[in-house]
Amino acid sequence: MRIAVLALQGAFIEHERMLRELGCETFEIRKLADWNQSKDGLIIPGGESTTQAKLLHELGLLKPIKDSICNGLPVMGTCAGLILLAEHVENGDSSIGFSTMSIDVCRNAYGRQLGSFYVKGMMKEVGDGIPMTFIRAPYIKSVYGNACVLAECGGHIVAARQDNQLVTSFHPELTDDTRVHGYFLDIVRKYAGWCQ
Ligand code: GLN
Repeated sequence: MRIAVLALQGAFIEHERMLRELGCETFEIRKLADWNQSKDGLIIPGGESTTQAKLLHELGLLKPIKDSICNGLPVMGTCAGLILLAEHVENGDSSIGFSTMSIDVCRNAYGRQLGSFYVKGMMKEVGDGIPMTFIRAPYIKSVYGNACVLAECGGHIVAARQDNQLVTSFHPELTDDTRVHGYFLDIVRKYAGWCQ
């Protein structure tokens, strides 16, 4: 399997490390030409969603990536990546990202400076005791349409899936537990042959 990792800003190297541990080939998307390579899935990492959105626009990557996601390309967005995939963003601008997922998100939901913490929790279809590292994280206020809840923490939704799209408020790439990425690769297998 060959997974593209958006590498404009943020925690992309950690995703690459984890994917390689699971036997995948990875390559980085830094400019439009990189996007033309064949791929089975895409990871949008955590970082700063406004910065990533600005770069996606400037590099002409936003539309081609959005079209591929709409055509079934499996995608996993963590933290800032979740914000970029959301249709509705509170404390942010909903129209700057891909807006492909039927979720209503609250950005910087735990506060700006003190909003970092670690818990272990249950994630549906993935398992129990999943390490969840939150860093100035968003949470999902509600899901609608085809989106469904996969995990909650403190009464807030922190992971969701809609068909080929998987999002987490937390950073699974910052732990040694490969189960969330393993689950994403199951989705990639299911959507093999998506229309490029
Ligand atoms: N607060 C960041 C944003 O709004 C997300 C933080 C993260 O990705 N760890 O984009």
